[in-house]
Amino acid sequence: MAALGSQAALADLIASLTRKVADFPEPGVQFKDLTPLFADRAALAAVTDALAGMVSGADLVAGIDSRGFLVGAAVATRLGTGVLAIRKSGKLPPPVLSESYTREYGEACIEIPADGLNLRDRSVFLVDDVLATGGTLAAAARLMERAGARVTGAGVVVELGSLGGRAAVAPLPVHSLSRV
Ligand code: AMP
Repeated sequence: MAALGSQAALADLIASLTRKVADFPEPGVQFKDLTPLFADRAALAAVTDALAGMVSGADLVAGIDSRGFLVGAAVATRLGTGVLAIRKSGKLPPPVLSESYTREYGEACIEIPADGLNLRDRSVFLVDDVLATGGTLAAAARLMERAGARVTGAGVVVELGSLGGRAAVAPLPVHSLSRV
């Protein structure tokens, strides 16, 4: 992670540029808003470099709606791969492939186009901003596999360690840039 020297320095930078909002979107959840991090030129470059350095053997980066799009596109550009937006339900015209799941706050559903996108035999690296319970990443991995792709791993900027997301996603290897 070139510019910042060490993993600990990057984790500190991420923490310092994360807005922590108590009881959002519901009581008991501390929301990690990475908007200040993404708006910082050096921090965005460092996060992009660090995540890109964790990818091996993938020819497609898939970012999860919506903050995963930002990091996913940046990482794909850095690696020279394609990028895939995994959308929340209702955003894509039919036909779609869908996966429903439970996440830290509430139920959700993610989708990709069922037509015009041949993922068979593609190797995909998943990217999101935050790993909480792991429901989102696990659903994204199932979606990719149903589409015929091979998921090589996943990368997140912040891992909420106490919520057990890493175990929920196992055996998929998850790389996180900071663990809180
Ligand atoms: P989960 O499926 O529980 O791992 O939740 C991860 C997804 O929900 C990611 O797409 C995050 O953007 C979002 N998310 C869950 N918990 C939080 C949180 N505390 N702060 C920010 N985003 C969160």
